[in-house]
Amino acid sequence: MTVILDGKLLAEKITAKIRAEILKNSLKPKLAVIKVGDNPASLIYVRNKQKKALELGIESVVIELPSNVSEENLLEQIYILNEDTEINAILVQLPLPEHINKQRVIEAIEPIKDVDGFTSYNFGRLALGYQPYSFPCTPKGIIRLLDEYNISLEGKKAVVIGRSNIVGKPLSILMQRRNATVIMAHSKTVNLKEHTLSADIVVSAAGHPYLITEDMINKGCIIVDVGINRIDNKLIGDIDFNTVKEKASYITPVPGGIGPMTIAMLMENTLELYKLQKSFEL
Ligand code: NAD
Repeated sequence: MTVILDGKLLAEKITAKIRAEILKNSLKPKLAVIKVGDNPASLIYVRNKQKKALELGIESVVIELPSNVSEENLLEQIYILNEDTEINAILVQLPLPEHINKQRVIEAIEPIKDVDGFTSYNFGRLALGYQPYSFPCTPKGIIRLLDEYNISLEGKKAVVIGRSNIVGKPLSILMQRRNATVIMAHSKTVNLKEHTLSADIVVSAAGHPYLITEDMINKGCIIVDVGINRIDNKLIGDIDFNTVKEKASYITPVPGGIGPMTIAMLMENTLELYKLQKSFEL
């Protein structure tokens, strides 16, 4: 029987623990989110993050900048947040407008406040097998969900579809750190099906609805769907869930899978950065 990997349930367990720890010890973690422009998806993501932070007793501040803000002004905001000792975690909501150099903006964040783990300092440490200040939230959430169901990655062949810096690339590194054999597929991969058919685990983070169909996977495959696609006002992933589910041993739903885990990991990273910064003050 196929097991649904319930990210919503695990995220609730994790966030309940975070809330209890904050309350019990009167902790004061504070997250700053920078939002540029009014991309509708970003508006929803930022609102959800703010709402979750509030529920957990994490203070959050959202800095809203117009879409025509100059790169210098945006960088200036980051420098102010870097210096502000009350702010423990900084997140720049992506995507940014085209005239802004995303890499320059991310690199401006102090690594110890880089809650997404996207700066080259933290990403480099992740790639080298060291401990970064923060692990990127979505890949961290995926590994945590697999752990919850005692799914070992050791010796398994994993196909990760998508090579972005925020999902596919860091996830492939984390999976290798768990001794999986990882194949990274992307938009230029030839014959994706040949790879997925020989995989023990398929993770899709392409943002392409119905990319993975039942004929592309082996019976018993573990399926993780990171994709978020809005079709007719409904959220669907990259996996043709109803048919693939019949063949998979484990599968994440959309919604209710990786989405809530990503937000839970953001909250966890915020609390961890707060505790780390406090420990340096002692
Ligand atoms: P991205 O656009 O930066 O990267 C997409 C990757 O998929 C690229 O590497 C591209 O080469 C690959 N790709 C695209 N079409 C493909 C195809 N047909 N075959 C093989 N590879 C293909 O996107 P991203 O930021 O990594 O996000 C990917 C998806 O995951 C999006 O749907 C996004 O909304 C979703 N996402 C979800 C969460 C979550 O919390 N659930 C978090 C981050 C991203």
